[in-house]
Amino acid sequence: MMLQQNRITCRVLFLSVSLLFGTGEGLSSSTSSSSFATKPTVRLNENIFDGPLPESVDVLIAGGGLGGLATCIGLRNRGIDAHVIEASPKLLRGSTGTGIMISPNGFSALDSIAACGNVNLSESMRSFGAKIGEQHIRMTDQGTGHVDKEVTFGSYFDKYGMDQYNIGWARAHEVLARAVPPEVVHTDCKLESFESMADETTGKKNSAVKVTLEDGRTIATSLLIGADGFGSKVRQMLAGDRKCKTRFNNQLLWNAILPTDQFPNGPLHKEGGVEFINCGGEGQAVLIFDSGEGQTAWYLTLMEKDAPDIVTKAIADETFGGFGPQRGIKSALKEAFAKWPMALECLEATPEDKIFERRQADRPKLLKWSSRRRKGAGGRVVLMGDAAHPMIPSLGQGTMVTWEDAAELAASLAPLSSSDQPFDSKGVPKTVRGFVKRRAKRCAMVQQASREQRMGKPLPKFFPLKICTMLQRQSRMAIMFGHTSPGAKNPAPSASDQS
Ligand SMILES: Cc1cc2nc3c(=O)[nH]c(=O)nc-3n(C[C@H](O)[C@H](O)[C@H](O)COP(=O)(O)OP(=O)(O)OC[C@H]3O[C@@H](n4cnc5c(N)ncnc54)[C@H](O)[C@@H]3O)c2cc1C
Repeated sequence: MMLQQNRITCRVLFLSVSLLFGTGEGLSSSTSSSSFATKPTVRLNENIFDGPLPESVDVLIAGGGLGGLATCIGLRNRGIDAHVIEASPKLLRGSTGTGIMISPNGFSALDSIAACGNVNLSESMRSFGAKIGEQHIRMTDQGTGHVDKEVTFGSYFDKYGMDQYNIGWARAHEVLARAVPPEVVHTDCKLESFESMADETTGKKNSAVKVTLEDGRTIATSLLIGADGFGSKVRQMLAGDRKCKTRFNNQLLWNAILPTDQFPNGPLHKEGGVEFINCGGEGQAVLIFDSGEGQTAWYLTLMEKDAPDIVTKAIADETFGGFGPQRGIKSALKEAFAKWPMALECLEATPEDKIFERRQADRPKLLKWSSRRRKGAGGRVVLMGDAAHPMIPSLGQGTMVTWEDAAELAASLAPLSSSDQPFDSKGVPKTVRGFVKRRAKRCAMVQQASREQRMGKPLPKFFPLKICTMLQRQSRMAIMFGHTSPGAKNPAPSASDQS
């Protein structure tokens, strides 16, 4: 009986660590530490993205982030004249202090987007990223910082048929930017509004969309894709202010990305390694990982109620957020994480102005991503990515589902394009409806799971409830990682896609 209880407890612990960051399962022995390969870091010339804005295009994508660029690549690979308008004067804005984890569903989406094109996006991401080898999880005591339990597990390959990679956000963005013809990306073009247009010759309503930019310029399109991120203007116009409320989850996040050799006592992780420390309290955690190219990404979380005084004051003053806006945050965090030496080393190694801080937040669930057929631009405006499903970054799935959106949009719209006929603009509203139907519920599930499973959240203490929570998380993970994008290889032969 005792033996059985112990086995169950081990299984529970194992499941809990494997699910903390949407990570896979499979206990493994340690891999040996090796030297870190620093790969070429030649940056793309920024000035190339200044093509003149055309009067009309088949598809216009508002937002040149990870979602907008991926969608543009997928559509252009299928012969559709897609252009991107980006609000920022620069497309590539350098480091955001963030690394992203590319899980098997993300690679499946990238393969689908890249099909029919010349650039192998998955291989490019892999060439810059770090293949996750060993993931090391420590459960520590909140009072002393002592390690109560430790678990190590490894590759996703056995379960999902693909490995997971970590890559810097800015590098992933640049990989996509390299695959887009520069003349189709228009920077310093902020969408201000859109309206429905009638056909000039037939007078038929809702035949196109007129997009007006902040500086008054206009552009006509058969389809406007709102890929304008968390604070989406397109979402606000489509769904109204009620669906654009910011929902904080009361958890704060500090993060940075810096050269691994900048850590005074050497690397804190092995090559391709992930280190996670649950600090034992509600929502306090440390995450450190190899993000490729000799860079280390780190994250610290705290609940707002446990925040140092200078942070509480900054939140009240509405000055909290962004890169290093406050003097003294490093020493305040050192005090809060005094019992966790790895957190202290991260803080020691990082200049204060390289630490990005944010209140974690999402927005209400939205299932109607497109404009209505009769009113509201005739089904010719649709959302994707963070504009459609902004989520808490606890499961590392925001970009993954955004790339799934891009893959699905490209595959759905492909039949409207042919080499000897103009783009079939009439087919857009129906195609958009099908796209939303296939995507919205799945993304709402991932958004909800990301909200429920915040970093460092303890499992229920009541044993049966604990087991149920574990099983629910495991099944959600199989659904997330196991998603196959159109035409791509199934990343998870053993996981059923229940979306
Ligand atoms: C700390 C952190 C860690 C994360 N880690 C991961 C991870 O490990 N894995 C993962 O999958 N995801 C992760 N994510 C989530 C991921 O960053 C987002 O989900 C992803 O960037 C969404 O892409 P997007 O293109 O929809 O939006 P964005 O990348 O935000 O792009 C939106 C673009 O639209 C532009 N724009 C805005 N308004 C306008 C306008 N009016 N007109 C024209 N352009 C406009 C913006 O300038 C921007 O370039 C993380 C997020 C955070 C905050």
